[in-house]
Amino acid sequence: MADNYILEMENVDKIYGSGDSEVKALNHVSFSVHKGEFIAIIGESGSGKSTLLNIVGMLDRPTNGKIVIDGIEQREMTLDQQAVFRRENIGFIFQSFNLIQELTVEENIIFPISLGHNKPDRKKIDSIINKLGLEKRKQHFPSQLSGGQQQRVAIGRALATEPKVLILDEPTTSLSGQDVQRLFQVIRTLKKKGVAILFVT
Ligand code: ADP
Ligand code: MG
Repeated sequence: MADNYILEMENVDKIYGSGDSEVKALNHVSFSVHKGEFIAIIGESGSGKSTLLNIVGMLDRPTNGKIVIDGIEQREMTLDQQAVFRRENIGFIFQSFNLIQELTVEENIIFPISLGHNKPDRKKIDSIINKLGLEKRKQHFPSQLSGGQQQRVAIGRALATEPKVLILDEPTTSLSGQDVQRLFQVIRTLKKKGVAILFVT
């Protein structure tokens, strides 16, 4: 396998349930992603897109197959190692923004860093907040924000850890045209920085 790939999947299967209720969500999926590559994944509802992203993002394990992220084979990691790896290398943006309602904008963005042993870099966090146009919303709570603003917080949270792989699962579904434009602007910048992006639409 070439070592300039950030992500490689080989013959990945995901089977949910068993017997009569068995669902084969992924059937022998293989692909590779370079640094800075943008991959769009399309398919009808129920075709396994979210399943694929959850497996790439180590939120779920495949039934069969091989996954290598940044040169490390996933099945050789313990669940604890996977959790740390995920936090440090993978950013998620979901359709529902999954913000913590009890935390402010700033606290939500810092949250993944605070789970690790690293202290948040104030300058970097402020620069992310400014770039996303949230400087006047730092102390607000998610319920006080529009959908587009909440999504920008989710983007900020995904960027705060400087991920190598960014995963977006139907992020534009509930956004206005202007917010979609803004999202793509952020994505272009990340792509230039070498972040690999998997985008389900
Ligand atoms: P998509 O995101 O493309 O709409 P999903 O990956 O969510 O598709 O689902 C793929 C298939 O797997 C669907 O048939 C879905 O019902 C099934 N599925 C997804 N998650 C589970 C689960 N946790 N348990 C059982 N079946 C599931
Ligand atoms: Mg889905």
